[in-house]
Amino acid sequence: MRSLRRGVVVVAVAAFLGTAVPGASVAAPGAVTVAEQVRTEVAGPVDPADPTRPGPLTAQDVQALALPSYQQWVADVTAVTDQAAAFLRTRLPDASGARTAIVLDIDNTALQTSYRPGLTSPATPGVLELARIAEDAGADVFFVTARPEILRGQTVYNLDRAGYPRDGLYMRGWFDFRSDEALKTANRRAIEARGYTIVANIGNNVHDLVGGSAERTFKLPDYDGQLS
Ligand SMILES: [Mg+2]
Repeated sequence: MRSLRRGVVVVAVAAFLGTAVPGASVAAPGAVTVAEQVRTEVAGPVDPADPTRPGPLTAQDVQALALPSYQQWVADVTAVTDQAAAFLRTRLPDASGARTAIVLDIDNTALQTSYRPGLTSPATPGVLELARIAEDAGADVFFVTARPEILRGQTVYNLDRAGYPRDGLYMRGWFDFRSDEALKTANRRAIEARGYTIVANIGNNVHDLVGGSAERTFKLPDYDGQLS
């Protein structure tokens, strides 16, 4: 099923980009285009009276074909953030008075980067709740991302607009070519070196979470690496 879906996506992308597709390069007058075939297969017949879905596949259509529905993603995220929230509520505030923190990945974790892209991608609701639970319990909220420093201004703007408390933002420095895993692990260690105990690390890729330096890790979906 997955390989079939990937095949459909490849055809859809090719159609979207205007690439020649075998058997589809010559369309007789009135013939059904590849894009229409794909759309019909995935979403049912096109309603020619519906002005909101005219013409060939859009970029959003292509992305939607490759990923589970938005509703499914939210459900999958919430299943994990509910567990993380329960953990934070028992773990915080820290009984010994230690400086505590949580670490959040940004893309497709703190922000809905792939499903709701834009200059100000909205907060992922379950993850924003974790940040607020942590803040209310006296823990600091750190963002550890592989986004490059050149995006710092936009990233800060987006996180602030999304409503996040923010005590630090660790990004990929100039000329830092380490793997995402090595980069993020080093940045968690830098947070620990400042005297923090990281009680939870939340991300959507394995490379966000391996490498230690967190009491607990919580993995959101990446759907076989499709979500960065
Ligand atoms: Mg991510």
